[in-house]
Amino acid sequence: MPDLTRREFLFKTMLITGGLALASCEDEVQDEEPDYESPGMLLGDYPPKNVIIVGAGMAGLSAGYELTHAGHNVTILEARSRVGGRVHTHRNEFSDGHFAEAGAARIPPDHDMTLGYADHFNLPLDPFYPQSGFFVYLSENTRTLIPTNDFLEGRPWPTSVQHKDYVKIRGGTDLLPTAFAEYLADQIQLMTPVESITQNSGGVFVRVSDGTEFTGDRVLCTVPLPVLNRIQFSPQLSSEKLDAMSGGYNYASSTRLFMQFAERFWENEGLNGWGYSDWPEEIWQPTWDREGPRGILMSYLRYDRADELDALSASNQLEHVLNRWENVFPGIHDHVEHGSSHSWVKDEWSGGAWASPTEEQYEVLEHHIGEAEGRIHFAGEHASDYHGWMQGAIVSGLRAATEIHESASLLT
Ligand SMILES: Cc1cc2nc3c(=O)[nH]c(=O)nc-3n(C[C@H](O)[C@H](O)[C@H](O)COP(=O)(O)OP(=O)(O)OC[C@H]3O[C@@H](n4cnc5c(N)ncnc54)[C@H](O)[C@@H]3O)c2cc1C
Repeated sequence: MPDLTRREFLFKTMLITGGLALASCEDEVQDEEPDYESPGMLLGDYPPKNVIIVGAGMAGLSAGYELTHAGHNVTILEARSRVGGRVHTHRNEFSDGHFAEAGAARIPPDHDMTLGYADHFNLPLDPFYPQSGFFVYLSENTRTLIPTNDFLEGRPWPTSVQHKDYVKIRGGTDLLPTAFAEYLADQIQLMTPVESITQNSGGVFVRVSDGTEFTGDRVLCTVPLPVLNRIQFSPQLSSEKLDAMSGGYNYASSTRLFMQFAERFWENEGLNGWGYSDWPEEIWQPTWDREGPRGILMSYLRYDRADELDALSASNQLEHVLNRWENVFPGIHDHVEHGSSHSWVKDEWSGGAWASPTEEQYEVLEHHIGEAEGRIHFAGEHASDYHGWMQGAIVSGLRAATEIHESASLLT
């Protein structure tokens, strides 16, 4: 679209497709601003810039979406063969069209940006937790059954909202990054790991693994800290960022182990396949609201427990969890079809589940992590106050998008 800005193009498209009322007041409508509104819409007219975004997770996608809408020329470079980053719905390894979340899954009611974009893209929401059946609590190998209402009134952890208030995106969390990506399609380059970023008074130059160089006015880097040191920056980043990306800003471990079953045998006992254990772990049945008979159970492990599981071979991981779960779902060994796991520490492009700094690390480094350095801006859940949430990725992405939008096109 050489002669139109994206904003003008969208406006004209809306007129053609009847998105705006044309019937009786065509002249008036033509003078109005486009009817585009999104939770993070960028306001004001600023010079258009060439922006290169590194990473197509929620931070990069939300920033890229809004910058594009505001008339900037955006290119997103992503190392993986898919968008979404730590939003990753596993779909291929299960039968009957079942799926399960390796990363982001539940959304609390105050995460206005996450919910706002789900609404913006018309993605329906469902309750996250089952609305019937017994939940299980396993402590010291003794199983207690918890009635539905008692569980729903409780909380996954003390400072969180109640179980009953969490929702999920119907059909899988990856539908949210996919919705952004459908709009940005021709601007995203997958399997394009960035290897170096150089800036000088003429611009910023991004080199990827096949040697191609991209030139821009600004770069937005959304790469998680544990894998940020795979990019060579010239000049070097600040000492605080170097510290944070060299292990000075802790990340949590998390691993999810999935098991598929030919039948939801736990239902024979009135169980819904959900609960907790004192290992500690969360037990989820991602298929609870989908047609049977097959079902998936998931063990959600964090911190030391995730590290313990990561140290085992794939078959030993499955056996380890099955052995413990004989006390949760008696007879489980007789029903399991297969298992698989996803470790975020072992994940090549994450190196950890989410930023989990000590109080001291947070106090010293938090302010520096999201701070722009010349033409390079920084975002991602680690650069927000919502560590471990899509909300943090989006809020930081929009903060950086605003910085870029409002910046002068050339540094002086
Ligand atoms: C186990 C787990 C459970 C979670 N549960 C929830 C939940 O229930 N609800 C919720 O809201 N959030 C949850 N989250 C958090 C949420 O998934 C993340 O906060 C959010 O997705 C992070 O987005 P991001 O854009 O900051 O980072 P990422 O999603 O990690 O995106 C960064 C992108 O950069 C790419 N990249 C890295 N290096 C390079 C490079 N050199 N060149 C090019 N690209 C590169 C990566 O491949 C990745 O796609 C969970 C996360 C995990 C791991």
